[in-house]
Amino acid sequence: MVEQFYRKLMRISGRMTEHTASDDNECSPRLPMQSTIDLHTHTNESDGTLSPTELVDEASRIGLRALAITDHDTLAGYDAAVPHARSSGLELVCGVELSIKHHGHSLHLLAYFLQIPANDDFRQWLLALQTGRRKRNEALVQKLCSQGMPMTLDEVAAHGHKLIARPHFAAVMIEKGYVASRQEAFDKYLDESGSCYIQREEPEFEDAIDQIQNSGGTAVLPHPSRIRLNGKPLERMVAEMRDSGLKGIEVYHSDHSPVQTQFYKDLAGEFGLAATGGSDFHGETKPGVALGTGIGGNLKLSYSILEELRRISNAKLENN
Ligand SMILES: [Zn+2]
Ligand SMILES: [Zn+2]
Repeated sequence: MVEQFYRKLMRISGRMTEHTASDDNECSPRLPMQSTIDLHTHTNESDGTLSPTELVDEASRIGLRALAITDHDTLAGYDAAVPHARSSGLELVCGVELSIKHHGHSLHLLAYFLQIPANDDFRQWLLALQTGRRKRNEALVQKLCSQGMPMTLDEVAAHGHKLIARPHFAAVMIEKGYVASRQEAFDKYLDESGSCYIQREEPEFEDAIDQIQNSGGTAVLPHPSRIRLNGKPLERMVAEMRDSGLKGIEVYHSDHSPVQTQFYKDLAGEFGLAATGGSDFHGETKPGVALGTGIGGNLKLSYSILEELRRISNAKLENN
């Protein structure tokens, strides 16, 4: 594994190529834009800034063939986008990004519903998760006030839409002059290591996987680069997750360097997981990240990535 990784590392030498499900990125033909996809995006129903219909319009404008809306803990953005995507001829994938606990650490987990959209059981479970988020938000306002940064939940809510997330707290902190930037707000106060961090009630990884699988969904580990593990410990974690039902890793992500991408691709191959990809587009919340093409054009995701995710998802279902 390590040898193979370093051999590839020498070959890729920093260049960015088109990503397809099966090739080795050595001689892939140039992809027409209409065969590209984006499987990780946010609307203003969570912490993005485009409305669901604006996001569909942008996807159509740049010629994406398929788009997954993966808002945090809500399907409202996906639901709202369905009719517009249908009339635009865009293939819309039902998705959601969950905050979960794995061995005591907070992680994100993507759930995709590739056959039919998420069912009522799953939606009820999501509603319960939103209660945990509300409680966290109330506690976070109190904590920030107690540390000399007075604000109200209404002021924070004015920056969000229906769901209030930490970027909305950061926006109020900037507005009131408590911090100079979003980065400072997170580094000093809001991140796990920040002084005002409030632990949210989050489902355990196994519980989330069960909920996803029982509802016909497919679980994918997003942005593995944000997990503070590398090498063998990361491999062990991915192996354990795979044994619990994980079906893919987000190999292609705006934040990943070519070297990281190759490492995660090898990891996916080693464990028989789908290598998925998405920009994690948030609109103005993350202005450097473009829909479909990532940061500075570092993404170009082939439709075959979605086909491979479907294939691996179906194969696992048949084996169960
Ligand atoms: Zn995430
Ligand atoms: Zn995301």
